[in-house]
Amino acid sequence: MLRIIMLLLVALSPNVTGTACQADAKVRALIVDGQNNHGVWPKTTVMMKSYLESSGRFDVNVARTAFTMNGETEIAAYPIPGVTSTPVKHAKTDPDFKPDFTAYDVVISNMGHGAAPWPEETQAAFEAWIKAGGGLVVIHAADNSFPSWPAWNEMIGLGGWGGRTEKDGPWVYTNEQGDLIRDAAAGRGGSHGQQHEFSVVVRDRTHPITQGLPAEWMHAKDELYDRLRGPALNMQLLATAWSDPGTGGSNRHEPMMFTVRYGKGRVFHTPMGHGDYSQECVGFITVLLRGAEWASTGKVTVPVPEDFPTADKVRSRRFAE
Ligand code: ZN
Repeated sequence: MLRIIMLLLVALSPNVTGTACQADAKVRALIVDGQNNHGVWPKTTVMMKSYLESSGRFDVNVARTAFTMNGETEIAAYPIPGVTSTPVKHAKTDPDFKPDFTAYDVVISNMGHGAAPWPEETQAAFEAWIKAGGGLVVIHAADNSFPSWPAWNEMIGLGGWGGRTEKDGPWVYTNEQGDLIRDAAAGRGGSHGQQHEFSVVVRDRTHPITQGLPAEWMHAKDELYDRLRGPALNMQLLATAWSDPGTGGSNRHEPMMFTVRYGKGRVFHTPMGHGDYSQECVGFITVLLRGAEWASTGKVTVPVPEDFPTADKVRSRRFAE
């Protein structure tokens, strides 16, 4: 009987493969959301919160600005205990948005295109917190937000839309040989072709986030962001995807996973994650967890799961609402 109980305890422990991390305190994560042109955001916040928490490695809170909706997803269908906010017709600065960033190890942005600037004191507090060693995870359209906030553009490394052009920094991509190109030519920042499944190629397999991932894996249907541009300072490219001109892409190998150092802070950025179906990809889920853990601690203990996608097969987990 005792043996059965012991086996059950081991089976229920989320960290059976990493004995060291069982002793570590949980990572304190804060998802920020509220203003995003992707109407599915109330659901993707709940999805990411669930993924992070069910890994056993994170405690997650949500800080929400006064929110905008475009009717795609009913916010009431995705309630989060303790999270209240007021609807606004058009995105505008929420003077009450003042999360205490110092209570967290990592902030995950689920903001999007058209998000209004945070109050100046919130911006200043966020900058100071990241510089002192905070962590940031940038998901998909979060890199569309705040085009006029210089420190934000440095943190995210690359961004798109919002009037971003060559004035904001180079396009960054790799060529056929895998060389990193920083292209200062004139042109818009941010574009994508039709959504489709695509192959993600890991360019650096020694980084803690990518260690143990297959060299190449199929990602579920998503928008493949191309032509992102920005300051791209202290940036380390981890993975790319070829943006096929046949689907409206750039014919470049576009960054899909990269890190940025900002002061003592660590940023993990992935432009993947457009739709709920994109975020059901086991590749996305794994990259989110490992990226968030690295941004928090500089280390990764979250394992690569058995059902990780392969070079020719997408693997998704239907999100149970
Ligand atoms: Zn999108």
